[in-house]
Amino acid sequence: MGRYAYVNGRYVDHQQASVHIEDRGYQLADGVYEVVGIRDGKMIDEALHIDRLDRSLRELRIGWPVARGTLGFILRELMRRNSLRDGLIYMQVTRGVARRDHAFPTTPVKPALVITTKNTKHLGADPGPGVAVKSQRDIRWERCDIKTIALLPNVLAKQAARESGAYEAWLVDDQGCVTEGASTNAWIVTPDGELITRQTDNGILAGITRHTLKALASSMQLKFVERPFTLAEAKKAKEAFITSATSFVTPVVKIDGDAVGDGKVGPTARRLREEYVRFAGEGEAVT
Ligand code: PMP
Repeated sequence: MGRYAYVNGRYVDHQQASVHIEDRGYQLADGVYEVVGIRDGKMIDEALHIDRLDRSLRELRIGWPVARGTLGFILRELMRRNSLRDGLIYMQVTRGVARRDHAFPTTPVKPALVITTKNTKHLGADPGPGVAVKSQRDIRWERCDIKTIALLPNVLAKQAARESGAYEAWLVDDQGCVTEGASTNAWIVTPDGELITRQTDNGILAGITRHTLKALASSMQLKFVERPFTLAEAKKAKEAFITSATSFVTPVVKIDGDAVGDGKVGPTARRLREEYVRFAGEGEAVT
């Protein structure tokens, strides 16, 4: 983790940073978050992430803790203080501190803002050997489009995947369709070369990486379709991969122990990863 955290107006030593025990995020998961990927000191798709934060806040009727411009300044200042080159910046806004009651506080409270950074290894164009995923029933609620900090179903699914030796869980709805990963969006390439990912609705989070990749895929003249796909279809796909701000484009080479395609990283995922990394390299470095 970075040396400093930002907590409600102050840059504090990460080891000492703390929030109030009556914070509604801590007690009721009444809050939202964002994760922005950082590569070579640059935020990837900052504006889109902040737009999504704004949407999550509005959906839950939580106010902005600081002005949008101020948030941009704080993010850069924390990156600078933590000499962040590669990794992520995490921001969380909760409804604030109030005596515990499920209903919203009746007197105005200031939303709480916490921001941390994490260093990770530099991610490049090479996607590595690919990862395994494990299917899990999607037991989440009907507002998966909101990026809330209430993540227990995702936590349990990810843990089950990890315990089985897989990297990610693929969540499967009552129709047998893969909605998304526990913390990633899910994609397949069909045997006739079509790129498929589920349409965005209240069943999944509209990933920012997904959004950007959609634009890149269209500029690469790939045939792209947004529709549900079943777990059975995924197992017969030519390729599969996951996307997120921190995993970029990561090939999936195994689903529930079965090889996807020939069990190796495929050309479509490889090319999309390259394009995404090229895209991430554009823009101004902060540090
Ligand atoms: N789905 C879920 C459930 C997630 O938690 C994430 C990661 N935030 C994603 C998809 C990918 O979204 P993004 O590309 O914006 O990181």
